[in-house]
Amino acid sequence: MSVYQGIGMTSQRTRERLVERIRAQGVRDPRVLQQIRDVPRHLFVDEALATRAYEDTALPIGLNQTISQPYTVARMTEALLEAGPLENVLEIGTGSGYQAAVLAGLVRRVYTVERIEALLRQARRRFHALNLINVRTKHADGTLGWPHYAPYDGIVVTAAPEGIPLALVEQLRPGGRLVLPIGTRREQVLVRVTRTTTGHEKEILEQVSFVPLLGGTS
Ligand code: SAH
Repeated sequence: MSVYQGIGMTSQRTRERLVERIRAQGVRDPRVLQQIRDVPRHLFVDEALATRAYEDTALPIGLNQTISQPYTVARMTEALLEAGPLENVLEIGTGSGYQAAVLAGLVRRVYTVERIEALLRQARRRFHALNLINVRTKHADGTLGWPHYAPYDGIVVTAAPEGIPLALVEQLRPGGRLVLPIGTRREQVLVRVTRTTTGHEKEILEQVSFVPLLGGTS
């Protein structure tokens, strides 16, 4: 039985429709689809937007930021998991906390870094309310990663830098994968970087649209 059983006020049918839509767009990993079905996305948005939480769209979360589109969360999670199981994953850009919650059910430990303290505070409250005890948070500029718990099996960045932040590649173990959007505000591609013993390899997955990765904290 899912740990989320009973939390949803939203009908199972609405969630199932979202899962079907994401599957139709090519996400096939059943563990990922199960998380999309189970994680109560309506608890990661403002109450006024809760009725739209199971639509496949990004939604505003305040402070000019957005909770990612469920399809994109699913796709990035699948891209991380594809090559084998992951122990620890670092996320840059906690935002609402939704992507971290999706990961929390799939890997042993999730570390997540957010530069806006007010957003992080809300996300922490959600992790606590949902009893996600394997998520650790930090208020910092995620461009620098979180060296203390490195190396990571996977790193996911949910805001777009213009190039690959090398500090993040350095915090991957050999074979570890970094999934991130790269590009300008107008045009970005989703990229998977795999660390090798001698350097790294880069694959371009598809076009995406994210808020920019910014420096510093607020
Ligand atoms: N993963 C989030 C998506 C949030 S949008 C979710 O599931 O809701 C991207 C987030 O990245 C924003 O909250 C933004 O403040 C944050 N961000 C942007 N630049 C950052 C940086 N350098 N370090 C940490 N977080 C950053």
